[in-house]
Amino acid sequence: MRVVRTRAELREARAQLPGPIGFVPTMGALHDGHAALARRARDECTAVVVSVFVNPTQFGPNEDFKRYPRDESADLALLEALGADVAFLPAVEEIYPGGASTFVDVGPIGELLEGAARPGHFRGVATVVTVLFELVQPQRAYFGQKDGQQSVIVRKLVRDLGMPVEIVVVPTVREPDGLALSSRNRYLTPDERAQAPVLYQALSAAQAALAEGQQSADELRRVMRGLVAQAPLGVADYVSVANAETLHELDVVDRPALASLAVRFPSARLIDCLPLAGPAGADRIELAHRRSG
Ligand code: AMP
Repeated sequence: MRVVRTRAELREARAQLPGPIGFVPTMGALHDGHAALARRARDECTAVVVSVFVNPTQFGPNEDFKRYPRDESADLALLEALGADVAFLPAVEEIYPGGASTFVDVGPIGELLEGAARPGHFRGVATVVTVLFELVQPQRAYFGQKDGQQSVIVRKLVRDLGMPVEIVVVPTVREPDGLALSSRNRYLTPDERAQAPVLYQALSAAQAALAEGQQSADELRRVMRGLVAQAPLGVADYVSVANAETLHELDVVDRPALASLAVRFPSARLIDCLPLAGPAGADRIELAHRRSG
């Protein structure tokens, strides 16, 4: 595995890779969720490039950019073991050279849900993804279902700008109790960790209610809020049952939908989501797989 840090080194390494190239953008502090993306890229592509970059433009002024977990040596050991060909670990100045002032604005979809709670977040995501795609020039790029809105927005970004990249969305990897793996889980106190599975419990309850015929989105949101209320340390930021493509809130779940929520615990804000039609089954298979493994 080659470890590169500059645009020039990346270009040089990239030129020697046989295609198709699979790209996995990450912010590091890598875990099994990231590993699932890299493994899928390894299976489907000839060469795999993984970036580790804590992107300052997607953090708000009062967010955790400075204390976001960073563990370069552990990340590199994992990427080596996963068979990545190139690890790209740029400094901030490498991605945003002095004076950089150009941003990619995804429009109103970036102001819903996570975007409402984190103004400017998706502008930062779209900008860094655009810069990274331009540098890596992958044929395929791998994103996690866990960040459901991000996947929807990145798909839209490549469609809107005509980027020749196929976006592959990989099912969420979970702990045995349902908590989605996240670099931010390490912030949680033991009491918060014990209550954190409430996100997945709420999503599963909505999925079960829908399966039993409850198509009222209001009712599904009420079911989810009821579950979150059972976690005394958690406060729901938003609870959503939305059109899976536009992310507009639904009245009736009569088309592919995305159930999602954000819950603030004192030490960390957690998000999770579940497709309510379509690949929901795949998410459960992943959980069953982790349970048996
Ligand atoms: P991050 O490092 O948090 O920016 O995540 C990098 C990529 O890994 C994103 O596409 C995430 O959606 C994905 N990811 C993070 N956690 C998980 C998980 N538990 N399961 C699957 N993908 C994940």
